[in-house]
Amino acid sequence: MKAFINVDYTVDFVADNGALTCGKPAQEIEQTITDLTVQAIERGDYVVFAIDLHYRDDSHHPESELFPPHNIAGAPGRELYGKLAEVYRQYRNHPNVKWMDKTRYSAFAGTDLEIRLRERGINEVQLAGVCTDICVLHTAVDAYNKGFRIVVYENAVASFDEAGHQWALQHMKSCLNATIL
Ligand code: ZN
Repeated sequence: MKAFINVDYTVDFVADNGALTCGKPAQEIEQTITDLTVQAIERGDYVVFAIDLHYRDDSHHPESELFPPHNIAGAPGRELYGKLAEVYRQYRNHPNVKWMDKTRYSAFAGTDLEIRLRERGINEVQLAGVCTDICVLHTAVDAYNKGFRIVVYENAVASFDEAGHQWALQHMKSCLNATIL
């Protein structure tokens, strides 16, 4: 069994008026990330929506010194963006679909993602979402350190920083042995 991990494809990270948006590059992957998600669900993969979660005025969170408030619990900015939101609504009760709050860049940090993958015998993690060089990259690094094979869908990841996007893809390929599709 494989896991397909959707990382942070929310209004705040994708929409023009998002609080911490990747903008056009993120909007351009909408159809691809949506199609890949549906395909993963239909072929029986374990599909995880690993979504950044913050609370208002949380001065203890390290990102409070780095970024403006984003993905606040219960706020519209934390909802999935566009067609992916529709797909989630359609499949949210599917037994292989899991919403997972995360509070750090990596989907493995402070979550039960690893336990859930291990108990399903999953050894390959497929990644899509934003930003390529932040949350996708950090999730890939943790997956590598835990011994998972990694696949990254090049046309389903994006960043506000084109140079960072390209660097992260190359790094995941050459240092994390990721397959870039
Ligand atoms: Zn965050």
